[in-house]
Amino acid sequence: MVVGEMSNNPNTPSQSSSQPQKAPVSSPAPSKPPTASLQPPIAAKPATTAQPAPLKPSFEGEGWKPLPKKLKIFGNLLSEVVNKGICMYCGACIASCPIDILFHSDKEEPIMRGTCAVCQVCYYSCPRIELPLADVERRVFGRERTPEEAILGINIGRYSAMAKDPELHRAAQDGGAGTALLLYALDQKIIDYAVVSGYSFKDPYRPEPQIASTREDLIKTAGSRYTPGGQVGGLGEIAIPNRGSTNSQEERLAVVGLPCELQGMWRMTTHWIATPKLAKNVVFTMGLFCSKVFDYQKMMVDYVQGKRGIDLRTITKVNVKKARLLVYVGEKLVIDEPVEAVAFSAREECNVCIDYSAELADIAIGAIGSATGWTTILTRTPRGEEIVNGAAKAGYLELKPISEKGLKFVEKLCMMKRRRDPSVYMRNETSVPKPEPSLVALEIPVK
Ligand SMILES: Cc1cc2nc3c(=O)[nH]c(=O)nc-3n(C[C@H](O)[C@H](O)[C@H](O)COP(=O)(O)OP(=O)(O)OC[C@H]3O[C@@H](n4cnc5c(N)ncnc54)[C@H](O)[C@@H]3O)c2cc1C
Ligand code: SF4
Ligand code: SF4
Ligand code: SF4
Repeated sequence: MVVGEMSNNPNTPSQSSSQPQKAPVSSPAPSKPPTASLQPPIAAKPATTAQPAPLKPSFEGEGWKPLPKKLKIFGNLLSEVVNKGICMYCGACIASCPIDILFHSDKEEPIMRGTCAVCQVCYYSCPRIELPLADVERRVFGRERTPEEAILGINIGRYSAMAKDPELHRAAQDGGAGTALLLYALDQKIIDYAVVSGYSFKDPYRPEPQIASTREDLIKTAGSRYTPGGQVGGLGEIAIPNRGSTNSQEERLAVVGLPCELQGMWRMTTHWIATPKLAKNVVFTMGLFCSKVFDYQKMMVDYVQGKRGIDLRTITKVNVKKARLLVYVGEKLVIDEPVEAVAFSAREECNVCIDYSAELADIAIGAIGSATGWTTILTRTPRGEEIVNGAAKAGYLELKPISEKGLKFVEKLCMMKRRRDPSVYMRNETSVPKPEPSLVALEIPVK
C-alpha cells in the first residue's frame, strides 16, 4: 500500500479550514501472508530485563484515584485542557472515542461532530488531565526508573547509529536510524505496519498520521515535521477491528511519535476507564526527542510561505538544529536563520512539557549527542534493544556506543527541559528530578 496515496503529494495549495478530518489511515490494507509467519523472531528470545507487565485495569497506584461522581466528558476536556492552552494535540482522545465522534482539525485540536454518549473515555485518556508517570512506567516497563535513570528515563542501550542504505539516509532527518529500524521490523515481519507521520493532502507540509507497510511508504514519510499531527489518532483508526483499515486482531504495529504523543498513547491504554485494547497489537513504540513544536498556520503558512515567500509545495526538508531554522527546496538551503524568527509560532502547551528524550518509548531517537548525519538511540526495553541490535546485525544500521560527551549533552538537554513546570498534569509525581540552577538559563526561549 502507498501511504496516504494522494496525501503524500504536497502539490496542493495551502488553505486552512476548520473542516473535521479523520487521519487517512483507513485506506484498505494490503493482504498479508498467513498469521503464523508473522510471529516476530524476537518474541522467542529471552528477555534481558523484566518484560513490560500486561495491561490490566487497576484502581490503585500513584495518581490513580476513584472517579469523581461528576461525569467528565469532552466538554470538560475542552475547558480543562484545550481552552487552557495545554492540549498538545496528541490525538489520544480522538483515538479513544468509542462512537467515533472526535476528529482531527486544522486548528490542531480535537473537535466533536455528533452526539456524545457520555462515556467519559476521552477525558480519562488525556495525559494532560493527569499523567501518573511512575504508575505508567510500572505498566509499560514493568518497573519504575532507578535513581541512576532519573534524568534519561528507563534505558538499556545508548548508541549513535546511521542507516547503511544511502536512499534511506538521504530521505531521513538525521542518520536515518528511525526509518532503517522500521524497515528492518517490516522486513523481519516483527510488524505489519508502522503508524508514522505523513503529509496532509490538503495542506502542504502539514503532518498527519499515516500507516506504512513498505519501504516506499517509509521513505516517503521519513524526516521530521515540526508541527503537531495528532499522531495517536492514527492508532485509533487502524487498531480497532471494524473501525479502520486493517480489521484484524493479528496485525502487529509499531507507533512512532513525539514524547507527548506516546504519553497520550499510554495514558489512553493504561487508565482503567480508557481503551487498553488499542495497544493490544502494538509491538513497539519509537519516540522522537523533542523540545517544542510550532503552530502550522503561523510557522509554515504565515512565516515560511507568507513572509519568506517559499511555496510550501516545493519544500523537501525542514530542520530545527543548533537553534537555527533550516528549510530546503531540493538540495538548496532557502532559509537559514535563528529559530527565534518563528518563536512567535511555538505552541504554548510545550511550556509545561518535561519529556525531552521520549521516556515512554521502547526506542527513543534524536539528533543531539551524535555527529551530523547520525542518530542518537536510547533503547528502553529488552524488545527495543533486540530490534536495534538485530537491525545492526542484519546490516540495516551502523551502530556504535554513544560518546560520553554526547550522552552528557543529551542529559543536559533533558535537565533543561525540566525547568518547565508540569504540575498542572503531573500533580502526584515525586520521581521527576528538578533542573540544576546552572542549566535553567541555557534553554532557547519557547516564546
Ligand atoms: C517536532 C520535533 C522536534 C524535535 N526536536 C528534537 C530535539 O530537540 N532534539 C533532537 O535531538 N531531536 C529532535 N527531533 C528528532 C529529530 O528531528 C529526528 O527525528 C531524529 O533525530 C531521528 O532522525 P532519523 O533520521 O533517525 O529519523 P527518520 O529516519 O527521518 O525517521 C523519523 C520518523 O519520525 C516520524 N515523524 C516525523 N515527524 C513527526 C512528527 N511531527 N510526529 C510524529 N512522528 C514524526 C517520521 O514519519 C519517521 O517515521 C525532533 C523531531 C520532531 C518531529
Ligand atoms: S488527549 Fe491529547 S489531543 Fe486530546 S485533549 Fe488531551 S492533549 Fe489534547
Ligand atoms: S462518547 Fe465518550 S469518548 Fe466520545 S466524546 Fe463523548 S464522552 Fe468523549
Ligand atoms: S515539547 Fe513536549 S508537548 Fe511539545 S511537542 Fe514536544 S513532546 Fe509534545
